[in-house]
Amino acid sequence: MTEQTIEINLSNNKKEKPNPDQLSFGKVFTDHMFTVSYSEGKGWHEPKVTPYQPITLDPASMVFHYGQTVFEGLKAYLANDGRILLFRPKKNLERLNLSNQRLCIPTIDEELVLSGLKKLLEVDKEWIPNAPGTSLYIRPFIIPTEAFLGVAPSNHYQFMIILSPVGSYYKEGINPVKIYVEDQYVRAVSGGTGKAKTGGNYAASLKAQEGATSRGFSQVLWLDGVEKKYIEEVGSMNIFFKINGEVVTPALNESILEGVTRNSVLQLLKYWEIPVSERKISIEEVFESYSKGLVEEAFGTGTAAVISPVGELSWRGENIVINNGETGTIAKKLYDTLTGIQKGDVTDYFDWTIS
Ligand code: PMP
Repeated sequence: MTEQTIEINLSNNKKEKPNPDQLSFGKVFTDHMFTVSYSEGKGWHEPKVTPYQPITLDPASMVFHYGQTVFEGLKAYLANDGRILLFRPKKNLERLNLSNQRLCIPTIDEELVLSGLKKLLEVDKEWIPNAPGTSLYIRPFIIPTEAFLGVAPSNHYQFMIILSPVGSYYKEGINPVKIYVEDQYVRAVSGGTGKAKTGGNYAASLKAQEGATSRGFSQVLWLDGVEKKYIEEVGSMNIFFKINGEVVTPALNESILEGVTRNSVLQLLKYWEIPVSERKISIEEVFESYSKGLVEEAFGTGTAAVISPVGELSWRGENIVINNGETGTIAKKLYDTLTGIQKGDVTDYFDWTIS
């Protein structure tokens, strides 16, 4: 692909920045966005940084009808020396193209997206919060824009990146959460779209999440869509257990999203020579191991919270409290190491961050 020039059109109407102590998740957006259009014949074209603004679409635009969408989520950090650090962005862009392939969306040049993202971050650098635990959440996404009601892949798309300053996920360090094991609804099935980051998966998850919230739980633990026996994910995170000295996470399959954090956690555990395996793990196995006193820790992994310890699991009316409801040593070490690397405060053993 020939290199495309990224046009930059700056806003002359800068918004007020939020108070760094009052940042929540995904409510405030920066002054600019990055867009690339796609049309048949032209391919992906007209990459540009423009003022953040509403978009106008025909009501027949395919995005409003059949859910042919993909998105990503990653973060930028401001290091103490002023550098803007991105954590493994190439993994997210690879995953974006895997999602594109699953959803019949034309793949996009990952280098073009990365240079667009870097330009956008330079332009909105002042929006990157610096306080401990804060970061700039990056949301790339693609929508089908052709006005057509037929069920078919769109011939026109819009790629966009928007940015949102976000606060620390937990106010004081990391905090174990209560999880409800969902045995009625499923998130994804083998042969479906679970492995892709597409809107429909998240729409499908809302009903179970609503039920869990009303029962006083933070998130649901998803079981496989066929037997409702094997553990898949927790909320929108991957899940790990430490059982009898070994860390176990469900092996990847067609219905599990491969998290960048999951991949990083596996690499760190191997580097620390902590026994770890990726395999099928049933919910019965967890409860049985618990009754023998062998479940030492459980935690979710994802970009938003990084590491989220599981304090309590409830399945078919039975509740288990893991590690006395406290953060385990491995969860804490992973959290400190990953957030330290992301912020540029801890040696980046694996060259994960780029500036
Ligand atoms: N599973 C699902 C369903 C998710 O939405 C996410 C968040 N992207 C993850 C796992 C964790 O992925 P990552 O570590 O890349 O954020």
